[in-house]
Amino acid sequence: MLIVMRHGVSREQVDRVVVYIKDRGFDAHVSIGEVHTVIGAVGGNVIDPRNIELLEGVKEVIRINSPYKLASRVFQEQDTVIEVNGAKFGGDYLGMIAGPCTVESYEQMDATAKALKATGVKVLRGGAFKPRTSPYAFQGLGEEGLKIIRAVADKYKMAVETEIMEVSQLDLICEYADILQVGARNMQNFNLLKELGHIKKPVIIKRGLSATFEELLMSAEYVMSGDNREVILCERGIRTFERITRNTLDLSAIPVIKKLSHLPIIIDPSHGTGLRDKVAPMSRAAVAAGCDGLIIEVHNDPDRALCDGAQSLYPQEFDALYGDINKIAPIIGKTVS
Ligand code: PEP
Ligand code: MN
Repeated sequence: MLIVMRHGVSREQVDRVVVYIKDRGFDAHVSIGEVHTVIGAVGGNVIDPRNIELLEGVKEVIRINSPYKLASRVFQEQDTVIEVNGAKFGGDYLGMIAGPCTVESYEQMDATAKALKATGVKVLRGGAFKPRTSPYAFQGLGEEGLKIIRAVADKYKMAVETEIMEVSQLDLICEYADILQVGARNMQNFNLLKELGHIKKPVIIKRGLSATFEELLMSAEYVMSGDNREVILCERGIRTFERITRNTLDLSAIPVIKKLSHLPIIIDPSHGTGLRDKVAPMSRAAVAAGCDGLIIEVHNDPDRALCDGAQSLYPQEFDALYGDINKIAPIIGKTVS
């Protein structure tokens, strides 16, 4: 177990932690670094690391066999900031991604993108390959969809964010997209993650329906170990016993991930709740909690959407929400982009 102390910690605080762990049977190895003092705790009894995290001066407790390294805050102390088309994710920035769930037609994308551009969005989302629960549901337009979203994004000088479902789609999607999304159902598609480690484009990894934070960070580690350090993590709701909302949006992802990792953490309140009227309140809460970005489903005509209409905002609703986000973000030191 590694106990990482806060920057500027006092000698007394370090000594108190040493006494605490020695009392519980551990050997303590103190290493005073330029930035951090780290206490290595070896042996000892079974202990709940949260008790140590609560001691004064302690920044975090890391199990020595921490399975992720490149994604870890210990490996890199400063926040990673990822920039795409002027939208910045991480550090003091909050990046916005918006668009329909699925690319349906040129007209639909054009009308939606026109409104989003007027609001100030720089990254346009839209799925061309859709991971649908039912094989009978609309599966997306495939390459035709990629062509449409690219053409519309170029028209409005926006970047393209779209989902990749399998390794065989990599070259094709890289031709059209600026950011690749790994969906919740593919969070542990390890072959796909490995391949994404070799591309030079940012990758968004969405948390699996029942994945732990550690598992999410391990998925990031797969991409990063291949040498692609541009990974954005996304909380999109997890499966719980609750049925009123589609998923349970776990906003604790924001402080938890920020403590464990330097990577940006963004929130998807659309899949996180599944209900249009819940999207704005949860977006505002996510901004207040310090998220590094939002990915929100917006459709020019949600009532006729082929996918996820009930959770898609009308463009004017999104515009109002964007105004709120711009008011809340500066309070916690974030600039919206
Ligand atoms: C999506 O973004 O449209 C999507 C399918 O998301 P998720 O993988 O989070 O369900
Ligand atoms: Mn969707």
